[in-house]
Amino acid sequence: MTSSGTQKPGVLFIISAPSGAGKSTLCRAVLNRFADLIYSVSYTTRSLRGGEKNGVDYHFIPKDEFEKGITQGRWAEWAEVHDHYYGTCADFLDGELNAGRDILLDIDIQGAGQILQRYPDSVTIFIMPPSLETLKARLQSRGTDSPEVIAVRLKNAQNEIAQKDIYRHIIINDRLTDAVAELIAIFERYRS
Ligand code: 5GP
Repeated sequence: MTSSGTQKPGVLFIISAPSGAGKSTLCRAVLNRFADLIYSVSYTTRSLRGGEKNGVDYHFIPKDEFEKGITQGRWAEWAEVHDHYYGTCADFLDGELNAGRDILLDIDIQGAGQILQRYPDSVTIFIMPPSLETLKARLQSRGTDSPEVIAVRLKNAQNEIAQKDIYRHIIINDRLTDAVAELIAIFERYRS
């Protein structure tokens, strides 16, 4: 990362979690708490789910555009998750960090590993479900995914949990209020 002038670069926070671990709620809580924290809107080739907005939840783009971005070095990190591409725009990250703004990335473990190579000072946080049974129950009650999709997500969750040691902080999301407090305390410790 390059810093222009005397501006202290921003801090990059990465939050990862198996889907269903409550990550979206936790991300919203820190974004509400810190008004100047910037959320990096990822690019994806998956289709919009009900209630999502293009440019807000994700930038939804076609597969060929994403693949062109890979060859052109457009992504600071990218990964294939649940059979779709997801990526973070490199120019966006560098621009915001160089302007001294702190950024929140909600990305998977493959992306977290790539970001750590590129920005080794990133603050990495992994959100754990209390158990795989709880995770399965949460995914089922969400009602957005078919049983096949839930099975894939549970398998991915097991893989992610097995690699959680690459993260600097681990939060178990058992009681939401406790998890939010823990997360906010971590942000307060590192924020520029
Ligand atoms: P969902 O499709 O449920 O919104 O997200 C699926 C997974 O993709 C989540 O674990 C989420 O953190 C991850 N993800 C979202 N955006 C990105 C990204 O830009 N890069 C990577 N590597 N993963 C992402």
